[in-house]
Amino acid sequence: MDGKIEKRLVCPYSKKCGGCNYQGTEYKEQLKIKQKSVEKLLSPFGTVEKIIGAKEPYFYRNKIHGIFGCDKKGNIYTGIYQEGTHRIVPIEKCLIEDERAAAILRDLCGLIKSFKLSVYDEDRECGLFRHALIRTGHVTGEIMLVLVITSPVMPSRNNFLKELKKLHPEISTVILNVNHKRTSMVLGEKNITAYGKGYIEDILCGLRFRISPSSFYQINPLQTEILYRTAIKAAGLTGKERVIDAYCGIGTIGMTAAKKAREVIGIELNKEAVRDAAANASLNQVKNIRFINEDAGKYMVKMAAGGERADVVLMDPPRSGSTKEFIDAVAVLKPQRVVYVSCNPETLARDLRIFAQKGYKAGLIQPVDMFPFTEHVETVVLLKRGGRE
Ligand code: SAH
Repeated sequence: MDGKIEKRLVCPYSKKCGGCNYQGTEYKEQLKIKQKSVEKLLSPFGTVEKIIGAKEPYFYRNKIHGIFGCDKKGNIYTGIYQEGTHRIVPIEKCLIEDERAAAILRDLCGLIKSFKLSVYDEDRECGLFRHALIRTGHVTGEIMLVLVITSPVMPSRNNFLKELKKLHPEISTVILNVNHKRTSMVLGEKNITAYGKGYIEDILCGLRFRISPSSFYQINPLQTEILYRTAIKAAGLTGKERVIDAYCGIGTIGMTAAKKAREVIGIELNKEAVRDAAANASLNQVKNIRFINEDAGKYMVKMAAGGERADVVLMDPPRSGSTKEFIDAVAVLKPQRVVYVSCNPETLARDLRIFAQKGYKAGLIQPVDMFPFTEHVETVVLLKRGGRE
């Protein structure tokens, strides 16, 4: 990390935006803070390894979210909600987002104005454009734009998209997502593919993945490869194992593990993600993996009741962590190893306590910085049945 570059990049929005807690803090210092916070929560379970920092802490986010707003003069802008409010802080260029997105967002605002279209006003519950979501494929360069609008009918749609395509031929697909509800959820249920395939593809750990608008995909591609490599190494696969990839998203961890396992079962609640996962298995000709669209805890309970076994459980739950139901079922399935990938050390610590009661002790505890400048931190924990490594 070049110290000079770090000094040059100063975020003008940091006071108002609230997205980054550590703007103005040197990257090395951020890593120290994260190390300490993970140690505070996880050292009761074992030795916490030194956090793996990012080589490039800027412009890493491959998923960008802009909320449309309009000032008194009728100028349109995008920004994010000021923390804890519904006031939009206009943002022209974010220091942690893929740089290609800022130009697309800026031109979208210009087009909305020149086509005399409206942006959503939350108080009056009127207007068309609510959010723009942009996802970029780090390796493929593909770009997906999701325009969240309040009505499936978008006036001047074809001309609008034609102009947008002229300005940004790099956009591979545009999806109109309809969300007319008064809600803090960004995406509505209905997607209309306006052009392109309706999804993008990216390459991770040498495999190709299709990503649809509402499927989860890790937001820092370079660090994700390090995270997955760490998790799969910890799983100690030899080619003979039956592996469960719980909370599997579009199947990224499970498919990376499948090369070294006998069989992988992915479990995921989001229907669209499971559809992507199945398509990804075919795309990469991975034949020893299948995906189940169900609540991970419920499915594990069913497996346990059916007398099934697993050799390794990989789990990567959302910030809220896993459940007692899930962990109780793991104890019945008796895998030798559980690899817990967590984006929230607090719920991780809570769940590790339950695992400890079931006889699973922590071996490796490895924090990875997936989210420079924010307070978030990812951790991989290896749990071994009946003993400490
Ligand atoms: N392992 C994947 C996804 C991790 S994010 C990756 O690295 O990309 C967590 C995933 O858990 C999301 O895809 C989310 O849809 C899913 N999820 C959330 N609650 C769930 C539940 N109760 N059961 C199964 N999956 C769940």
